[in-house]
Amino acid sequence: MKQILVVEDDAQIATIVRDYLHAAGFGVEVAADGEVALEKARARRPDLVVLDLGLPGRDGLDVLRELRRASPVPVIVVTARGEETDRIVGLELGADDYVTKPFSPRELTARVRALFRRLEAREAPDERIRVGDLEIDVPRMHVTVDGRSVELTPSEFRVLLTLAKEPGRVFTRGQLLDTLHGVAFESYERAIDAHVKNIRRKIEPDEGPPRYVQTVYGVGYRFAEGGP
Ligand code: CA
Repeated sequence: MKQILVVEDDAQIATIVRDYLHAAGFGVEVAADGEVALEKARARRPDLVVLDLGLPGRDGLDVLRELRRASPVPVIVVTARGEETDRIVGLELGADDYVTKPFSPRELTARVRALFRRLEAREAPDERIRVGDLEIDVPRMHVTVDGRSVELTPSEFRVLLTLAKEPGRVFTRGQLLDTLHGVAFESYERAIDAHVKNIRRKIEPDEGPPRYVQTVYGVGYRFAEGGP
């Protein structure tokens, strides 16, 4: 049974989340503050941590930093509505996903399951990524849409591949910029917007909202989860 550590100082929310995750087949530990959370993370080695960033005492982002120093445990951060900076800093400190309060326990459970699925997929060697009509031949750095070959620059290819390797994961512009390290000399996050614009022009359908590379407002971009 996968073990989840829920770090939440609001006892009512903690209980609801615990019961829901239990019912979904997970083992759950609750910690009400950062110090206890770090102790439990060390002692119990959970498979995943759900971390509320709004904690009394030790700051949630600080707890995240400390967790990351100790292990690669997957983390979903919980942020208050409107706190986009926390969300971005959380992702850049290595959180795998975030949910925004108020959230439904059902939504959180779905995110937990999706994250476990993504982590399993990350282990598998992906020579070829297929979503809808899009196909990426990774070793050949070749992209086709509906069998039609698409010419991407090395930077565009790197950005697309980073997103497509982990469908559903939200990447900040800063994280995408990091993946270009060594490919191009670009130091502005706006450069990512320009790459995404070019990628979309080349791979997305002419009409309607983007099918593959989706915008996450105020945070960054993500690749569409699952096939159409
Ligand atoms: Ca809180």
